[in-house]
Amino acid sequence: MTFEELGLIDPIQKALKAIKFDQPTAIQSQAIPVILSGRDLIGCAQTGTGKTAAFAIPIIQHLCESTNTDKAIKALVLAPTRELSIQIGESFSLFGKFTKLKHSVIFGGVSQSKQVDAIKAGLDIVIATPGRLLDLMNQGLIKLNKVEYLVLDEADNMLDMGFIHDIKRILKQVPEKRQTLFLSATMPAPIRKFASTILQNPEEVSVSPVSSTAETVKQSIYFVEKVEKSDLLLKLVKRMNMQQSLVFSRTKHGADRLAKKLTKKGITVASIHGNKSQNARQKALGDFKAGTISMLIATDIAARGIDIQELPYVINYDLPADAETYVHRIGRTGRAGRGGVAMSFCSPEEQSVLKSIQKLIGFQIEKGA
Ligand code: ADP
Ligand code: MG
Repeated sequence: MTFEELGLIDPIQKALKAIKFDQPTAIQSQAIPVILSGRDLIGCAQTGTGKTAAFAIPIIQHLCESTNTDKAIKALVLAPTRELSIQIGESFSLFGKFTKLKHSVIFGGVSQSKQVDAIKAGLDIVIATPGRLLDLMNQGLIKLNKVEYLVLDEADNMLDMGFIHDIKRILKQVPEKRQTLFLSATMPAPIRKFASTILQNPEEVSVSPVSSTAETVKQSIYFVEKVEKSDLLLKLVKRMNMQQSLVFSRTKHGADRLAKKLTKKGITVASIHGNKSQNARQKALGDFKAGTISMLIATDIAARGIDIQELPYVINYDLPADAETYVHRIGRTGRAGRGGVAMSFCSPEEQSVLKSIQKLIGFQIEKGA
C-alpha cells in the first residue's frame, strides 16, 4: 500500500515525501480510507504505530476539499497532555505544510492571551487539552458550533486521567452531526462503553493488541537493589555510550534526586514531571530533542505521548505500577519499525510487578548483562 493508492491529494503527498514517510503504517492504511469515506472510527493500535497521521491526514484532506469556506473551527482534536497536544500540532504543521489550513494548540499552564489571539485570527483546526478548552469555552472565547470533525486521541489515557466529565461538557457544545474519531492504545470495557455513547455506527480498525510489545524493541531486565540503581544506570550509560535515553522514575521526587546525582557525575540530564512549570517541561523536551542534553528523566504522566524521533534507549529505572504502562513506556523506543533497546531495573520489592508484566507480554524478559 502506498499513500498514492490511498488517494491523497498532492499537497499532502508532497508533505509526506518531504518528511520521508514512504509508505503508510498498518493503522494508517486501514484507518485513512474509513475516515475519508466519512464514517466514525475506533482506531486501536499500540503506541508508536502512527495514529496521529492516521487521523490528521484525512482531516486535512477533507478540509482542503471542502467548499465550506466559513471562518470557523471545523476540526477539534482533544488530547490528554500539553506535550502531546503540542506534538499533534507539529504533525498538522508537517502534513498540512502545503495547504492554507490554520491550526493552533490550546493547553493550560501558560497564559491564555496568545491562544485567544490565535482563535480570534481564525482557525480551521484546534488541538486542545480538555481543561483549558473548557475554560475558554466558559469565558465565551471559543465557539465549537461549526465543528465537523472531532478526535479523541489517547482516549484511554484521557479517561484514566479523569477527563471524562470535561469531555462530556465539551461534547455538549459540539454539533451532533459530525464525524468522530476515537483513538486508543487499549480498549478495555469502560472505554468501549464510553466510545459507544459518542460514536455513531463506527468502523473499528485495530492492529496488534497492546500486550504485544513492539517486536523491534530489545528488552532486558536487571535485578538490582534499590540503592544500587543509580550506579547501575551510570555504568550502563557509559558502557553503551548512550547518546539519548529516556529514563522513567516512579516519583517526581525520585526523578529530581536522580537528575541531581547524575549531573554531579557529568551527565547532561533534565527531569520532567507534573511539578515542573510548562516552560521548564518544554525546555527540557526541546533540549533533549536537540541533543543538548543526553538524558530525560520522566514520570509517566509527563512522558505520555511524547514522541522523540529514533529514541534508542528507554530505561525503566523503576518498574511501573501496572503492566500496561510498561508496554506504553517501551513503546517510546523502536517506533515505526526502528530498532530500540528497553532496559528495566527490578529491585526485590518490584518482583511482583515484573511477574504481571511478563504475564501481559507473554514472555520472560531476558536478563541483562
Ligand atoms: P502513535 O500515536 O500511534 O503512538 P505517532 O503518530 O506518534 O504514533 O507516530 C510514531 C512515530 O512514527 C512518529 O515519529 C512518526 O513521525 C512516525 N511515523 C508515523 N507514520 C509514519 C510513516 N508512515 N512513515 C514513517 N514514519 C512514520
Ligand atoms: Mg499518539
